[in-house]
Amino acid sequence: MHHNTAKKVMLGCGAASVICCLLGLLFETQEPVLFYIFATLGIALAVGVFVIHLLYWRCPCCGKHLPTRTVGKLEYCPYCGSFL
Ligand SMILES: [Zn+2]
Repeated sequence: MHHNTAKKVMLGCGAASVICCLLGLLFETQEPVLFYIFATLGIALAVGVFVIHLLYWRCPCCGKHLPTRTVGKLEYCPYCGSFL
């Protein structure tokens, strides 16, 4: 997977994960079944983001792990300086 694709997937899954958790909290008291469905989905998406981050969030030139906090705005590799 290209690191740009990984970035899009991570941001999308991260947002979906947060939305699922919020929806789960919304239904927590009225519909416990929906709460468990959304909570499980939210956790699964968060784990997916973590796995994609570990496997694919790397510089295409030097192969080093890119910093986590700069997922949305990283333009250059901090290690080799190549344009991402
Ligand atoms: Zn690099």
